[in-house]
Amino acid sequence: MKELLHPLHLGHVEAGLPELYEPARLHGLTYEAFLRRVLTLEIEGRRLSAQQTRLKAARLPVRKTLEEFDFSFQPSVNARQLWELAELSFVKTKTNIVFLGPPGVGKTHRSIALAVKALEVGYCVLFITLAHLASDLASAPHASVLKQRMRRYLAPQVLVIDEVGYTRLTEEQATLLFALVRDRYEHGSIILTSNTSFSEWGALMGNEVLATALLDRLLHHAEAISIQGKSYRMKNREARRRTNGTGSREERKEEFREHGADPGAD
Ligand code: ADP
Ligand code: MG
Repeated sequence: MKELLHPLHLGHVEAGLPELYEPARLHGLTYEAFLRRVLTLEIEGRRLSAQQTRLKAARLPVRKTLEEFDFSFQPSVNARQLWELAELSFVKTKTNIVFLGPPGVGKTHRSIALAVKALEVGYCVLFITLAHLASDLASAPHASVLKQRMRRYLAPQVLVIDEVGYTRLTEEQATLLFALVRDRYEHGSIILTSNTSFSEWGALMGNEVLATALLDRLLHHAEAISIQGKSYRMKNREARRRTNGTGSREERKEEFREHGADPGAD
């Protein structure tokens, strides 16, 4: 059988067929039912491997889901709005989503959770921090490489740009970011997270005019979701401190980054 399946590229059938024979005999399957099982094996196998490939290509830093999100901790977040977004009509309408808020309130978590939903139904997704995106584009050694890299960020139906606000962009990086947002405009969704209010984007990009033009396109078809509240990281730290007496140095460093408290020594 192998020599027949191989040239037809029916790898999933090749792998799973031996296990279909016995139950087929046992249940006395009709030829039609058996053929259906064989074909389903290939179709299902291909669907799963395509999903794996897309998941890998998405480069999610970690897997987070909406189901594990604790909405009671963030009363400022409209749970219904998020569940509606998870139905993914924003991908079809090429609408952008912007999560704004201080560190630790779950901006990245929400972005990844929506990305996971999009991947599950078959969309292509790419996750990247602004720092990596900007340096990747600006370090292209010549025009053809830049074009290729641009295509990488234009192709996925959902592009997540995380951590806007932590890095100030050079003039070249800002121009390239603008070009990317302009070219994705009405072509593909962007999910963006930022700890910086829009009024500060001029300083972030080193150019008020460019920032205004970028925001104009980013926000024309967009849902901007502002999240207030406490850091969830701090909640975990406080809970651990109550049980262990003190947090780890890593946690203190995190606290320092977010709240300006001295991390101190171990
Ligand atoms: P931000 O991107 O806003 O800085 P993150 O999304 O990285 O915050 O959240 C920090 C950590 O806290 C992550 O591990 C995230 O999964 C978790 N987290 C944040 N908010 C919630 C929440 N409401 N429910 C469950 N986990 C949360
Ligand atoms: Mg984040």
